[in-house]
Amino acid sequence: MTILLYRIDPYMKSFNAKVMKIENNIITLDKTCFFPQGGGQVGDTGEISGNKVINTLSSDEVIQHILENAPNFSIKEEILGQIDWERRYRIMKLHSAAHLVYYTMQEVFGENCKPASSGLLDDKKDRTDYIFNEPLDKQKLLLVEEKVNNLILDGLPISHLKNNEGRFIWKIQNFEAMECGGTHVKNTKEIGKVNIKRGSKPGKGRERIEITLSQQKNQS
Ligand SMILES: [Zn+2]
Repeated sequence: MTILLYRIDPYMKSFNAKVMKIENNIITLDKTCFFPQGGGQVGDTGEISGNKVINTLSSDEVIQHILENAPNFSIKEEILGQIDWERRYRIMKLHSAAHLVYYTMQEVFGENCKPASSGLLDDKKDRTDYIFNEPLDKQKLLLVEEKVNNLILDGLPISHLKNNEGRFIWKIQNFEAMECGGTHVKNTKEIGKVNIKRGSKPGKGRERIEITLSQQKNQS
């Protein structure tokens, strides 16, 4: 098992660790703050002692760092890990925004309006998508956007704690708690401002909504 430093502090940008295993370009460490791909969230990128990490995966609670090339370090060596923080922070904001949209959609469209997909985060497009099984009214969607941006302005604390069964629970004031293993910002105000719009239709009467951040640069 890898010690998951992003669980202790999702704002950790760099760390020292020991190399446990090297399999071609796949590196296992004793601990890491690299978040692995899963639950709609993309894996972290960054560097391990100057070696470029192009993705992070998880297999049986062991975190696998995928390097671009074979590493220049050996097993048992101490390394310095650094995540691409600008990218990760943007992902944390987008992911936290997707939670707010999820709840606000039910508030505006009715409690049965739940997305058919989990939040699909597309890092290259800087966007999280939800697919819904029914058509969504454009005016109501504008109201969702307004309400979400008000929640952001309210500066509400977001907690992410382990429950009795050891599962991680995302919680924000007045909203039902939700199980989620992702990385979140500590306060809604960090998200900045979001845009919500209908995207290309996925077919069969379904609707896609696209969530993007209005300010994506110069925030860290
Ligand atoms: Zn989450």
